[in-house]
Amino acid sequence: MIVILKPRITKKAETAVLREIKKLGYRPHLIRGVERTVVAAIGDERTHQTLEVLGSWPQVERVLPVQNRYKLVSREAQKNDSVVTAGGHRIGGGTFQVMAGPCSVEGEGQLMRTAEAVKKAGATFLRGGAFKPRTSPYEFQGLGQKGLKLLAKARQETGLAIITELLSEQQAGLVAEYADILQIGARNSQNYQLLIAAAKTGRPVLLKRGLSMRIEEWLLAGEYVLSSNNPNLIFCERGIRTFETYTRNTLDLSAVPIIKRESHCPIIIDPSQGAGRADLVAALSKGAAAMGADGLLIEVHPHPAEAWSDGAQQLTLEGFARLMEELKPFIAAAGRK
Ligand code: PEP
Ligand code: MN
Repeated sequence: MIVILKPRITKKAETAVLREIKKLGYRPHLIRGVERTVVAAIGDERTHQTLEVLGSWPQVERVLPVQNRYKLVSREAQKNDSVVTAGGHRIGGGTFQVMAGPCSVEGEGQLMRTAEAVKKAGATFLRGGAFKPRTSPYEFQGLGQKGLKLLAKARQETGLAIITELLSEQQAGLVAEYADILQIGARNSQNYQLLIAAAKTGRPVLLKRGLSMRIEEWLLAGEYVLSSNNPNLIFCERGIRTFETYTRNTLDLSAVPIIKRESHCPIIIDPSQGAGRADLVAALSKGAAAMGADGLLIEVHPHPAEAWSDGAQQLTLEGFARLMEELKPFIAAAGRK
C-alpha cells in the first residue's frame, strides 16, 4: 500500500503514521519529495490488518493499493488468453461461440423448436433458464428440474451444449448434472458463497456483470471462482443500470477491451438483457464481435410475443438466422473463427 501524507505536517504527526504502519505489521519505506512525503508500506494484506484505516487520519491524504486486488484472473498471472472448454467447444483463444435460446424453458415444443433452429443457424450452445431470478415473486419462476430435463433432451437431440442459470447453493450439484456451463446471473454476481459452490462443481462458470457492478468488483467476483480451484471462468457483460430509459440497461461494450487488458479470461456479450429490445440486438452483436468479444449470449424464441419472460428482447427464429449470416464479416474482421 502507498500512504500519501498531507503537505507540511509536523514531524510528530509523520512519526505517528510510521508507528501505526509498523504496529499493523508492515515495513514503512519513506519517500520524501519536494512538496510531500509518501510512505510505501511493505507487507501482505492477506496476513495483516488493512491499512485503509489510515485514510481517515488528519495527516493522511490518501491510501492507495500498489497491486491489483485481483490476482488469479489478472493478465499478470497469465499472459496468454485462457481457453475454456465446455461441451466439447473452446471459448476464448481466437474462437467465437454463439449461445442462443429462450430466456426461460417453457415446455418441450418451445425448447425443441428453438434448439433445432439455433443449431441450424450455427449456434454451439443452447441457453435457457430452468430456475429464473424474477424481480417479482408473482412472475413465472421457471420449470425447475423439469426444465433441466428438457435441456438435457435438447442436447441429446441436437448435440448443442447447455448453459443454464444456477440460482442457489443447494442446487449446485443438481444443475451441474445437466449443464455444460453454469450461468451466474446479474442479481447473484456478488453472492460469493454461490460463486464458490458453482466453482466447486468443476463446471465452467459464466459470470454476468451485476446491475451496478464496477469492473474491479466483477474481476474480484471472478477471483472467487479461480481461487476455488476452477480455472474455467467466462465473463459476460449484460448491461448496467444507468439513467437511460430507451434501453432496459446500458450495454457497456467498453468492458470488452478492458477485460481483455486486465484478464486472461474470455468475455462474451449478452445484448438481449443489455438492450431489452429485440430491434437493437443485431447492431449490438455486430459491435461486440468487431470489438473482440469471444462470443454472444442471445435470447431466441419461436413466438417472442407469447414468451413467459423477457418477450420484448427475444429474437424470432428467422431473426436469429439472419443475424448469424450478418455477423460473419464482423467475426472474420476480428480474426476469429
Ligand atoms: C437471463 O439470461 O435470462 C438473465 C436473467 O440474465 P441476467 O442475470 O443478466 O439478468
Ligand atoms: Mn432473460
